[in-house]
Amino acid sequence: MLPVDVHVHRVSGRLGLIGHKVSADAAHNLLQALLPEDARSIYDFHKGLLRHGQRTCVYEHPHCSKCLLTDLCDYYKGITQPA
Ligand code: SF4
Repeated sequence: MLPVDVHVHRVSGRLGLIGHKVSADAAHNLLQALLPEDARSIYDFHKGLLRHGQRTCVYEHPHCSKCLLTDLCDYYKGITQPA
């Protein structure tokens, strides 16, 4: 079972894995559906997003210039390619 804490929720939203208005409760099922069912994959996904949210994709000012995920990130595209 995938825990969706504030970091996993925030990073998932910025990357575009879930919509901006999706609650943490709803995100659980949406994210879990994207992952393989084995416990190791779920754990690795959670741990990876948690650490990324704590160290790089922080709440107030994400450190996008140091991030390896810019090519995959909706938030980054939004700030570098405004509509
Ligand atoms: S590019 Fe920026 S907003 Fe996107 S995941 Fe990386 S740190 Fe977060």
